[in-house]
Amino acid sequence: MIVGIDLGTTNSLVGVYQDGQVKLIPNAFGEYLTPSVVALDDNDEIIVGKIAKERLVTHPDKTVSQFKRFMGTKHELTLGNRAYKAEELSSFIIRKLVDDAETYLGEKVEEVIVSVPAYFNDAQRYATKLAGKFAGVQIDRIINEPSAAALAKRSMVNQEDQSFIVVDFGGGTLDISVVELFDNIVEIVSIAGDNRLGGEDFTAAIAEEFLVSNQLTKDTISREFYGKILVQAEKTKLELNEKEEVKMTVLDQEQEYTLDLSYQRFYELCQPLLARVKAVLDRALMDARYSYVSSDNFVLVGGTSKLRLVQDFLSYCINQVVQVSDDPDRMIARGCALLAGIKERQGEIRDLLLSDICPFTLGIEIIGDRFSPIIERNSTLPASRIEQYYTAELGQSQVKIKVYQGEMMKASQNLFLGELEVPVPVNTRVNESFTVRFTYDLNGILDVEVKIDSTQEVFSHVILQDSVTLTEKEIKAKQAELTRYKINAQETEVYRFLIEKANRVYSMLLGRRRDELMAETRRFEEEVSQASVYHLPKLYQSFSNYLDFLERGL
Ligand code: ADP
Ligand code: MG
Repeated sequence: MIVGIDLGTTNSLVGVYQDGQVKLIPNAFGEYLTPSVVALDDNDEIIVGKIAKERLVTHPDKTVSQFKRFMGTKHELTLGNRAYKAEELSSFIIRKLVDDAETYLGEKVEEVIVSVPAYFNDAQRYATKLAGKFAGVQIDRIINEPSAAALAKRSMVNQEDQSFIVVDFGGGTLDISVVELFDNIVEIVSIAGDNRLGGEDFTAAIAEEFLVSNQLTKDTISREFYGKILVQAEKTKLELNEKEEVKMTVLDQEQEYTLDLSYQRFYELCQPLLARVKAVLDRALMDARYSYVSSDNFVLVGGTSKLRLVQDFLSYCINQVVQVSDDPDRMIARGCALLAGIKERQGEIRDLLLSDICPFTLGIEIIGDRFSPIIERNSTLPASRIEQYYTAELGQSQVKIKVYQGEMMKASQNLFLGELEVPVPVNTRVNESFTVRFTYDLNGILDVEVKIDSTQEVFSHVILQDSVTLTEKEIKAKQAELTRYKINAQETEVYRFLIEKANRVYSMLLGRRRDELMAETRRFEEEVSQASVYHLPKLYQSFSNYLDFLERGL
């Protein structure tokens, strides 16, 4: 059996193609979204998903989230007293989703198709495959997220028009892609994004307003207090989808702080964020040479697309009503599951992208930390371009060519890829000129060639995407290590989640209400330990209702 996984920064999903249709698979909580959060519990066991997310507030040192941002890098995140790379953490998520799928389907999962952002480079794609290996499943096929969303959309609406503007607005990133579909070919015409813009920023904007209006600053309050403000800000953000005015309240040290926030004021506060959304949209459309777009072409995916504010703003930008259609959280997973089905039937879909266009600009640093682009983003690959440069000073004996990838004006703000030093003939009368040729191929290998114009001498240097190459033996060792950790079993998940939630709610309550919660929790634990399996759901439900009731009162 092949399953499709949307391995998201904030949430992940798994789906399968069965009986001629896409089926998304619920987790132990009956939910499709599993938070991409990993935690270490008090027995040093790995916990994944919703329970781990509850512990973000209560055990920040033993919980990690948002690690997808570090895929393919050497950056490590600490969990308790051990450091993990993003691909190791991701392997726990994959393992959990595969377990859920196997439990649900009663079949073994042999292969997994995973989606990745279109701009993921080779190292990041490789890391994703490695995460699969660590989790003990095969990932032969990776699909680009916008391609998956477009495939899912096409299958749902049967639309004639085969061009899509996929707006994927998640927890921490915004990606807008123009995607065209013809038969079994998906062509990503352009991609643009802001990897520092997401739902969390809208939440942070509310938190900031809350601080300002209560004359507080982030640096002078406790981490715990700020954590509580963020939780309430998130709630307020969601409530503003339906209400025109929301009262936000946070308790800290027996004191109550409040903020009355209107939708209008929220819109104002978010102007700087919305301007960045516009910039990304414009860039995607300009690169695709689209001058007119219809709201029918829009595919809104990701949780933040559900923000009324975002839909209102996009509508304002194109002067037509843009709405989330179906399932914005699940479109990518649906596309992955669809592809799993196609692959099982031995079909193929060609997903034209990274292999075919270069999603970022490649260039070198010139004097004054300026960035000089050589291969521009969205160039068709393989690409080979030349630019001519001059030595900066008379009598210079060598030049240093520093190669960067990115879209920033300042070289140092882009991603440094490598450098080479080239001797130049010492010339005290005129500046020597030299030509730099970049050749970038389908495998992500950048060949840098420098030719001194006066002597025709050529120097070259090959830059490989800095991929982590591990030997089979190292992979086996990692797998063994990771299987040492037990991942939370499904049967007890709901129970453990409720206990963690009780802890979090407890941390937000005060005085008498705390004592009450503690007593209730004790009683719940006792009842569960004595109850028969058949009575558990009822016990869980009533304790869960009680916690929700307390939380609403916060
Ligand atoms: P990612 O792609 O990063 O894994 P998601 O697409 O799941 O993330 O989006 C998560 C974000 O969506 C969070 O910031 C959350 O606040 C936001 N979100 C979820 N539901 C809604 C909603 N109904 N309205 C507004 N924002 C929402
Ligand atoms: Mg996403």
